[in-house]
Amino acid sequence: MQAEGALRKIIHIDMDAFYASVEQRDDPSLRGKPLAVGGSRERGVVMAASYEARPFGVRSAMPAATARRLCPDLVFVKPRFDAYRQVSEEIRAVFARHTDLIEPVALDEAYLDVTENFLGLPTATAVAKAIRAEILERTGLVASAGVSYNKFLAKVASDHRKPDALFVITPAMGPDFVAELPIGRFHGVGPVTEAKMKRLGIETGADLRAWSLDRLKDTFGSSGSYYYAVARGIDERPVRAHRIRKSIGAETTFSDDTAAYDLLAERLAPMVDKVWRSAEAKAMRGRTVTLKLKFSDFSLVTRAKSLPAPVPDRDSLERIGLDLLRGLLPLRRSARLIGVSLSGFEQEAPDGPEQLGLGL
Ligand SMILES: [Mg+2]
Repeated sequence: MQAEGALRKIIHIDMDAFYASVEQRDDPSLRGKPLAVGGSRERGVVMAASYEARPFGVRSAMPAATARRLCPDLVFVKPRFDAYRQVSEEIRAVFARHTDLIEPVALDEAYLDVTENFLGLPTATAVAKAIRAEILERTGLVASAGVSYNKFLAKVASDHRKPDALFVITPAMGPDFVAELPIGRFHGVGPVTEAKMKRLGIETGADLRAWSLDRLKDTFGSSGSYYYAVARGIDERPVRAHRIRKSIGAETTFSDDTAAYDLLAERLAPMVDKVWRSAEAKAMRGRTVTLKLKFSDFSLVTRAKSLPAPVPDRDSLERIGLDLLRGLLPLRRSARLIGVSLSGFEQEAPDGPEQLGLGL
């Protein structure tokens, strides 16, 4: 447990009915109507439902045909991911005015650690208010915010009074709040686990808290210790500002397709350079080399080799890549793309520009 003075201030921001709200913003004729983004009337699934559609029971991930049956007047629109990505960039720019500890979890959702915040606002609640106002001003869209002292509770809080809400769970409230929470509302408890917990008599956080750590581990495996902690309002997971990279790769598409080894080797070399430079810059040492070829008919082949120790230098990376390439000869079709990647890293390294200076 953290000392009291080290309490973190975490915000979870989640846009309300995101895709549907963007559609209603951009097409006034859709406003006030039950709306589903995704599928068509007969096929596909609902990707997002407007708040007007929800009283009918329309939910995301529901088959479009079911949604149509529940709500005959439901209007379907096709998703426009470019528009959603653009809004996503705008809200991330708002976050970046307040902190650089931002962990995006979806286009419309992120955790922020604002224990230290750039504007020096005294409370996380003040930061969350400012962010909601700035998002509304810049995008015309509404975000809900949850404020608490860890990610689990911040997420629960943002969901608690949705839509258009700001909800705070203080350290004094945390344990009681969790005790009363239905088990299905726990982030990290999916429908299958929820059903299993209910069969075992676990309906609420209080029921979950009655279980010992050993029993939870025996029953739920590696998730047992997570359930044990969050049942007590404890969640030490940090806000991770950068995605963990699993591989570093580079590839090139040719202007003229070829099946000739010499030409392919020549085109591989600059890709090897790129990958090696990037790995060195990030101080990442990987054991697995993967070669990728795409053919003129767009079929794809990959070959990989793992060493007992990390690839020691650029030339070894190239040699292994060429070995893998020779293993594919003779090619029956011309290739249109060649790529190489390095993975199987010794340690997971963060994907961030501030790591470039590592080791200097
Ligand atoms: Mg959302």
